[in-house]
Amino acid sequence: MTVIAQDPAVRRKGKILTAKIAVPAEDLLGGPTGYRLQLVDYDASSRRFFGRHELPVSYEKEPKHWREGDQRIVTDYRFHAQNTYALVMKTLARFEFALGRRLGWSFRTHQLKVAPHGMYDANAFYSPEQEGLVFGYFSGTSGAPVYTCLSHDIVVHETTHALIDALRERYMDPSNPDQAAFHEGLADVIALLSVFSLPEVVAHLLKPHASTKSANLIDREDVSPGALCSSTLFGLAEQMGDEIESIRGGALRQSALIEPDATLKDTAEYQEAHRRGELFVAAIMRGFISAWSDRILASGTPGQQQFPVARVAEEGADIADALATMWIRALDYMPPVHLEFGDALSAALTADLEVRPDDSRYHMREHMRTHFRAYGFKPTSKRKDPVGVWDPAPTGLHYDRVRFESMRSDKDEVFRFIWDNRDTLALRPEAYTEVLSVRPCIRTGIDGFVLRETVAEYYQVARLTPREMKAVGVTAPKEYLHELREQAAERRRKAGARNGSRGADAVGPMGGDDEDMVTPLYGGGVLIFDEYGRLKYWVHNDIFGSKQNERLEYLWQDGYLRAGRDGGRFRAARLSTLHRLRATEARKTPAEGW
Ligand SMILES: [Zn+2]
Repeated sequence: MTVIAQDPAVRRKGKILTAKIAVPAEDLLGGPTGYRLQLVDYDASSRRFFGRHELPVSYEKEPKHWREGDQRIVTDYRFHAQNTYALVMKTLARFEFALGRRLGWSFRTHQLKVAPHGMYDANAFYSPEQEGLVFGYFSGTSGAPVYTCLSHDIVVHETTHALIDALRERYMDPSNPDQAAFHEGLADVIALLSVFSLPEVVAHLLKPHASTKSANLIDREDVSPGALCSSTLFGLAEQMGDEIESIRGGALRQSALIEPDATLKDTAEYQEAHRRGELFVAAIMRGFISAWSDRILASGTPGQQQFPVARVAEEGADIADALATMWIRALDYMPPVHLEFGDALSAALTADLEVRPDDSRYHMREHMRTHFRAYGFKPTSKRKDPVGVWDPAPTGLHYDRVRFESMRSDKDEVFRFIWDNRDTLALRPEAYTEVLSVRPCIRTGIDGFVLRETVAEYYQVARLTPREMKAVGVTAPKEYLHELREQAAERRRKAGARNGSRGADAVGPMGGDDEDMVTPLYGGGVLIFDEYGRLKYWVHNDIFGSKQNERLEYLWQDGYLRAGRDGGRFRAARLSTLHRLRATEARKTPAEGW
């Protein structure tokens, strides 16, 4: 299918730069409606329905002017429908390929609802409640409408939010500064790598004015990391339209511009989720550029002064693709709750090592470690060889009472395995434990090497009174505990007054029982089994571990933890809200210029 390569502002010889992408084969109904997606062209702002779109049945049947990137596609809603459908499906297929299994959404229905012109707003968001993606449109400074559904990386960014949510449903909960930043950062990374995996885009960015013939050459000095970074990353940010730029290009430019500095992550500015997410994006994209530059400079004859643009572009697209696979697979090796960037990095290093043991071609793992370190992030795993990879699972586990065949799909069987090994796997009996998912997968390496694994995810919850927290070694912030006690006392005073007026026996339990002063704590882990049913990795976050203190302190300081009606509660933070704030801020910027 033909899609717009980046957004309508990125042009080559006056035409919008388009790309041909592969999507899973299916016979679509009108809408289009397919097996995983239902496109609903309804605008909630104007309450208008733009009809069911019938897409061309094949690439060959597409109107010629679509493929040529004619200006008319900017206002052609049928083309908008194809562009949105194709990019969502390509992203889903990308995830399924990397993970080696089918992937559902985080909600019950099979089909994600997608509204390409869902609202009049300079914004787009993923909403699990609405089971879909909503793309806005708005009037640009020239008065012409600007459509977010025509921006490649906005569509992929929102789809990635939906896919991360499907894999790690607790990552939308407030937890620590890294977790929300990771949702944003990875959505940006997958979006950028998706754009960079199109050789058309890469070739255009390298030589915007040249023709695409392979005879075109690029000078050695232009493939140094610095030169590639400014021609491609900055180049993309600069070419993106001024309008869409206020939502996306600005953030992209900021991420690419952040000079490596290990102290930034501790500054107040980088505690905010989007800003912090940019550090994650910067580390990965700079790692991408370095791997790419090294690969080109090491190719050809020693000291070769010029390289064919087509080959440089293809190599870049290949590396972008391999890197996307690495980071998508990493999700399986990440703890299900309380993720920090160091965990994500250890997960990526482990996932990559498992399927691509030989990294001599791109040195990708080394590039990732180097660039994360430059922004002050180290792998959580202290393992020395291989560096930063998760430690192997503990020894002495019992397998004699579980049946592996069942463990590949049955949550109860996996729970039994955890239960039988509760001491080794530090299952805290005071907490409620639930196996969230069990997923068998078959992953294929680029060399055709096949890896079979089963990934099981479990989640733990405990609601503890202050006394119980103390007993398990968790310390909540003093001010919070004070508020909790005040509110409980107030409730008891009121209940006592009511009871008194009715003449019933007076006061309820005072001081002794503090059941209404509980604080929720969360923990959990991921179990990775090999094809013989042996545990390979166990990545977990102890529900009563030392990090809980820090986390409660952060949540309290940032207003996420509150003393409520029946004890402590976390305020729900929704990504759609975060996006709205970001777009509002972005729109202020041009206004400030007046
Ligand atoms: Zn986002």
